[in-house]
Amino acid sequence: MPALAHHAPAAELADRLTRAEAACAQRGARLTDIRRTVLELILQAGEPIGAYALLDRLKDKSGQGKPPTVYRALDFLLAQGLIHRVERLNAFVGCHEEADHPHPVQFLICGECGNVAEFEDQAIGTAVATIASRSGFVVKRSIVEVEGVCAECATLAAG
Ligand SMILES: [Zn+2]
Ligand SMILES: [Zn+2]
Repeated sequence: MPALAHHAPAAELADRLTRAEAACAQRGARLTDIRRTVLELILQAGEPIGAYALLDRLKDKSGQGKPPTVYRALDFLLAQGLIHRVERLNAFVGCHEEADHPHPVQFLICGECGNVAEFEDQAIGTAVATIASRSGFVVKRSIVEVEGVCAECATLAAG
């Protein structure tokens, strides 16, 4: 269960963008320039980043940055499973995995330092599916967000 990568080195970032492009192509989707740039900015941030901050960085970087353009790019990246929205923070993070498939998401959110760790536990996804199916409920999106204090902050508080 790797935590989110913080400030990935440039080569790693380029590599990841290339893989994201390939993953999209495999599904017949296209990682256009704007989508790629938005993904790059989210991965570069190294922490959850909100839509307004993204807009600002996009304007700095490329002179582009009309809100609808950014929201459409975000929708695309969410649908492709390349990023997730942390509802509690109203912000976006890159998927902790190597790009790829849409999947149920679980987050541990530290209220002290704001660190967000993503994990994917099959048991939770299965439990949600089981509960839903009992009442004939069709799950479209499942996100579990757990708020608390991360190990580092807990150690600091104890010291
Ligand atoms: Zn993920
Ligand atoms: Zn913390």
